[in-house]
Amino acid sequence: MSQLQSLRGMVDLRPEQTRRWQAVEAVAREHFRRAGIEEIRTPLLEVTELFARGIGEGTDVVGKEMYSFLDRGERACTLRPEGTASVVRAAVQHGLLSQGAQKLWYGGPMFRYERPQAGRQRQFHQIGVECLGVSSARSDVEVIALAWDLLAALGVQGLELEINSLGTPNDRQRYRAQLVAWLEERVDQLDSDSQERLTTNPLRILDSKNPTTQALLADAPTLLEALSEESAARFAEVQALLRQLAIPFQVNTRLVRGLDYYGHTAFEITSDQLGAQATVCGGGRYDGLVEQLGGSPTPAIGWALGMERLLLVLEAAAKADPDGVAARLTAQLPPTVYLVNRGEAAEAAALGLARSLRQAGVAVELDGSGAAFGKQFKRADRCGAPWALVIGDQEAEQGCVRLKSLRAEADEQTLALDAIPALLEALG
Ligand code: ATP
Ligand code: MG
Repeated sequence: MSQLQSLRGMVDLRPEQTRRWQAVEAVAREHFRRAGIEEIRTPLLEVTELFARGIGEGTDVVGKEMYSFLDRGERACTLRPEGTASVVRAAVQHGLLSQGAQKLWYGGPMFRYERPQAGRQRQFHQIGVECLGVSSARSDVEVIALAWDLLAALGVQGLELEINSLGTPNDRQRYRAQLVAWLEERVDQLDSDSQERLTTNPLRILDSKNPTTQALLADAPTLLEALSEESAARFAEVQALLRQLAIPFQVNTRLVRGLDYYGHTAFEITSDQLGAQATVCGGGRYDGLVEQLGGSPTPAIGWALGMERLLLVLEAAAKADPDGVAARLTAQLPPTVYLVNRGEAAEAAALGLARSLRQAGVAVELDGSGAAFGKQFKRADRCGAPWALVIGDQEAEQGCVRLKSLRAEADEQTLALDAIPALLEALG
């Protein structure tokens, strides 16, 4: 029979990788706990309208990248391409916002039909934070600091924070007109994607990855210049607070982000380790979204980081500094005991002993190979366990087990097979 392969852009996580993921998730969980942020879990499948309305029809995500289909009941469904719209939908649906501001985090798979490459998959994973019901510049900075400090706690280095202000819908409308007028005079110099966006979503042209378009844009009017006085003052306050927290940043007037719902503060954290897919984390303020999804007007801000890209950066950090945080995070924890056993009666006794020790909380690797003792000991050494327990024919007959230290030069002990408390004490 021929082998079957996973779908293009859909990636398996092998045990060596899930270990790293779990370490990252554990750090993130603790980080969020300290900040009073609770986890929310929403379905992977939502009605298509949620994203069409929430993210915006003119965006790449909605226009080109969604996994959409009719289910058996003819409902238009979409595998979620991002988390924010779902979190807002859930908060509105369950009346969470009437209970005051909500600080929520989520994690899990997202789906976008993109061209797979390093750091870009069709099923990828995000960890994200959404703060609903907060409007101050201070809350923007608290949320940015949460992302920045999480990455620092993971030992990720070489990060850059870029921020911009997208202002109010009015600011953007005014700017949109200026930008379109300016670009229309130069339409023949634009790449074809950007020419199309000129009518659908002109601000997204700023985000073009085409070098010629980027060069052209160097002289274009900037959003920053189009901000109202209030918007500009708000943006200045965000910057002042970031400076106060000693979080380094750069203002990037062309940072617009891919989704339509952003306004005021937008930000991205990039890594110099990632090549073309450099953005590890992106987010911003989205004050209009809750209302757009049927809730009462509610200010909000959030971010999402890409797990796959974060893991790539972590691997690089672990390689660069084998004693650093990133390396420690991704190291495998060995079992406490490697249980060496051979012979019919010994193997039966070992099965019971492994079970009793595991029930008592000890991590036990039970050798199930029936191989020669020498081979089993080699594996015991290699796995990094501090202790070996050994049962052969003789031990099985006498109802005992030998305890050997694999790390220190210590005398071997012989203990009764059923003396679990004594064994636990010996293992320390
Ligand atoms: P990009 O410009 O790289 O396409 P984006 O603006 O589409 O990113 P967001 O929607 O802001 O990305 O998602 C937040 C983060 O999720 C990104 O910064 C990135 O780390 C990650 N991400 C987005 N799309 C993918 C993907 N297809 N594969 C892997 N990670 C992704
Ligand atoms: Mg994208």
